[in-house]
Amino acid sequence: MSKINIADFIENTEVEGPGKRFALWVQGCFRRCPGCCNPHYLDFVPRTIVESEQICKLIEDSKNKHGIEGVTLLGGEPMLQARGLSEIAKFCREIGLSVMTFTGYSLEELKSENIPYTDELLQYTDLLVDGAFEESKKEEKRNWVGSTNQRFYFLTDFYKQGIEYDERFSHGIELRIRPDGSAILNGFPLQAEVVLIHSAHN
Ligand code: SF4
Repeated sequence: MSKINIADFIENTEVEGPGKRFALWVQGCFRRCPGCCNPHYLDFVPRTIVESEQICKLIEDSKNKHGIEGVTLLGGEPMLQARGLSEIAKFCREIGLSVMTFTGYSLEELKSENIPYTDELLQYTDLLVDGAFEESKKEEKRNWVGSTNQRFYFLTDFYKQGIEYDERFSHGIELRIRPDGSAILNGFPLQAEVVLIHSAHN
């Protein structure tokens, strides 16, 4: 099992991909895209260092507690922590959960740049969204993505093409107030119906 530097997680969200999902944000990204949703997740600083096994346990707990259908990996840049994330994604496959992965790299870049363990992460990813957010190309039709340059790849048959246009999925954002008073906002702010969730942890 490998260590991962995580920025945050939510054990049950409905705005980061199809259905109820465990969302995991990792810390660190080389890019600085104007308008990035998560500017505080970009610096390469230690945030919370965990073993991939610990995250697997949280995911399994969420499956039992909330009936999540999958996990979404975001950042920061997930491909820069592909070793630990591929272990998590493999575990998800084994327990019947889907994996959706966002990356700022294009799929072509991933194939040519030989970033360690990205092949493994792609192997266990069902739905890949590639491409960095481009502020001048705001997306208004598809679910879950911020700009029109970002592409969906259906790497397995877990999801059907066209799901990114399915209006049954939430277009909102979620605002969580944690017991310590801190707040986390997730989803894409351009599609702004706010759901307020009080939460024991997430
Ligand atoms: S690649 Fe994604 S996470 Fe990185 S700066 Fe761009 S929008 Fe933000």
